[in-house]
Amino acid sequence: MNPPGKEIATPFHLRFWGVRGSIPVPGARYAGVGGNTSCVQVLSTGIGSPGSGEVVIFDAGSGIRQLGRDLVSRPNPPAVIHILFTHFHWDHVQGLPFFLPLYSPRTRLILYSAHPPEELRCVLAGQMRSPYFPVLFEQVGAKIEFRQISCSEPTQFGDLEIDAFPLHHPQGSVGFRLVHPLRTAVYATDHEHGDPGSQCGLLFKSRDADVLIYDAQYTPAEYPKRVGWGHSTWLEATQVARRADVKQLVLFHHDPEREDDAVQCIEDQAREEFAETLAAYEGLVL
Ligand SMILES: [Zn+2]
Ligand SMILES: [Zn+2]
Repeated sequence: MNPPGKEIATPFHLRFWGVRGSIPVPGARYAGVGGNTSCVQVLSTGIGSPGSGEVVIFDAGSGIRQLGRDLVSRPNPPAVIHILFTHFHWDHVQGLPFFLPLYSPRTRLILYSAHPPEELRCVLAGQMRSPYFPVLFEQVGAKIEFRQISCSEPTQFGDLEIDAFPLHHPQGSVGFRLVHPLRTAVYATDHEHGDPGSQCGLLFKSRDADVLIYDAQYTPAEYPKRVGWGHSTWLEATQVARRADVKQLVLFHHDPEREDDAVQCIEDQAREEFAETLAAYEGLVL
């Protein structure tokens, strides 16, 4: 868990607002890594930087709450916000009702998933329906559009291109390959190894990536009792990173039971297998 170091001029950065899997975990023993569920912001000179007017976000776990506060505190909050959902498990959508820009009429919110637009709308409206939440999704202030992201054609976001591809997970999940002519990153959370088709696709999409963010929820010792739960291990992460020849591996979607010292221990072990490994933590910028 080394600090990210000095930021250098690169085509985009990634900021981690939530790195936990399954459910948020409060408490001092989790505070170093952070207890919020999945949310990663893409920062670039074209999209996501202060004043650029646009933001791209992967997943709306509880980490998106703090990101929303950050966005609205800017002198010129972004007018266009793109949120790409990997899938609809609760830890990836639960932060949206607490995302402040959702309530601003100045926000144009464009929401993407691999499912038809109406299905995406129904899922997000469902978690805000009575009696689960006091404000209906239909009553929020933002202007909302729903789009289906293709797994066969890349989608362009300014100077960034995003490619979706299927992962192996109960009820499905997709990974995102983020491409700029000078830098590539892959966001592959909620994926279980062992399915030849999706594993092959993941390796192909991760080839030579500068950053690979990978689902490392379990240890190899825990995994045999969790086969079929939809998650992978830190050891498998290092093997994918080595085979795909990525430059930096980021262990992500930490188990809610994993206290800070245990995450550090996993990072140390993973570095023996693949030296350029980091365990993700809230506030990390890469
Ligand atoms: Zn998850
Ligand atoms: Zn999931």
